[in-house]
Amino acid sequence: MAQFPNSIHSKLPKTGTTIFTVMSKMAHEYNAINLSQGFPDFACSKKLLSLVDKHMKLGHNQYSPLQGLPELLEAISDKIETMYSTKYDPEKEINITAGATQAIYTAITALVHEGDEVIVLEPAYDCYVPAVELSGGIPIYVEMKGKNYKVDWDEVKKVITHRTKMIILCTPHNPSGSILSAGDMENLDKITRGTDIVVLSDEVYEHIVFDGYEHQSVARYPKLVDRSVIVYSFGKTFHATGWKLGYCVAPENIMKEFRKVHQWVVFTCNTPMQYAIAEYLQDEENYLGLYDFYQEKRDYFIDLIKGSKFKVIPASGSYFQLLDYSDITDEKDTEYAIRLTQEFGIASIPMSVFYHKPVDNQRLRFCFAKEKETLEKAADKLCKI
Ligand code: PMP
Ligand code: GLN
Repeated sequence: MAQFPNSIHSKLPKTGTTIFTVMSKMAHEYNAINLSQGFPDFACSKKLLSLVDKHMKLGHNQYSPLQGLPELLEAISDKIETMYSTKYDPEKEINITAGATQAIYTAITALVHEGDEVIVLEPAYDCYVPAVELSGGIPIYVEMKGKNYKVDWDEVKKVITHRTKMIILCTPHNPSGSILSAGDMENLDKITRGTDIVVLSDEVYEHIVFDGYEHQSVARYPKLVDRSVIVYSFGKTFHATGWKLGYCVAPENIMKEFRKVHQWVVFTCNTPMQYAIAEYLQDEENYLGLYDFYQEKRDYFIDLIKGSKFKVIPASGSYFQLLDYSDITDEKDTEYAIRLTQEFGIASIPMSVFYHKPVDNQRLRFCFAKEKETLEKAADKLCKI
């Protein structure tokens, strides 16, 4: 086909295809076990599926309101109040989105202007920076430090200027699996006090925290709540990443701006699934059970690879486990991830891609949201290396 116009002025000249798509495609081509892209290989709850079926058959198949189905907004408001002791107004402060990705994109588009600076902690999940750049914002990077990816708040404080509009957090953290502590939240509060900085908090793994730790949602901290947009994903919580349904919460003045953009991006989200999830959320075991469910998987995976040459990087949340391969080879992580997939039949994600300038610590990210059998097969391959 002829290419017209001949030269398109790209808005994202540095952007290629996401690493998740690249590695999943490679896993498929080489028939490798896919522990790269983060999605479960087990089914979501039959009860939830039958609720979707019920609501589709009841005829709940037309547009829902722009902000989301009232029943679901109510259920979310109650859930957050029970868990984090903050009451969000269902009508004015909560919005259903087409996954957390759309919530993040919409929040950044609504709030970041040309020339605004946005603090991004690296390694960073890949959808933040492109959204900032599309709005003409300037990402300001601060590296999370040490083996356990801690935030150095002094360093964050140093990069704050009068142009800083936003700081983006992710806890539990993808890709590292680290979590923010109450002390981190206090530091965040201190350094943002007296500023107009908005906190965008990506908490899609809120129910996947291990070793008895409690998820430190921004929603627990009243002073932070006033300046924060928090995003969540039903895809992660209910093992249904393909449904692309999530939500975000924010104070009314921020939410008003969010909705102005939301209506032009998607207007409204999948209706029957909103009905189904509203009902499913009534039983808190449907999400509180996740802590044990995933801790068991993580512990099982770690135990299975004990005899291997890979070193486990301790983590306290998310469904990703980092493995250090420095005892095996000096190869770059991007090269080794390809070789592991093509020669050894196991796909992972190289950590260096989550930095604007590759930082290669010879670590790969493995998703353990998998059936026991998948983890056993994967571990068997890893132990043979
Ligand atoms: N943030 C993080 C940290 C993620 O890992 C993901 C992937 N689920 C998302 C956002 C996007 O979530 P969703 O699939 O609901 O768009
Ligand atoms: N969040 C998933 C991960 O980190 C991937 C989502 C995507 O493919 N964009 O693996």
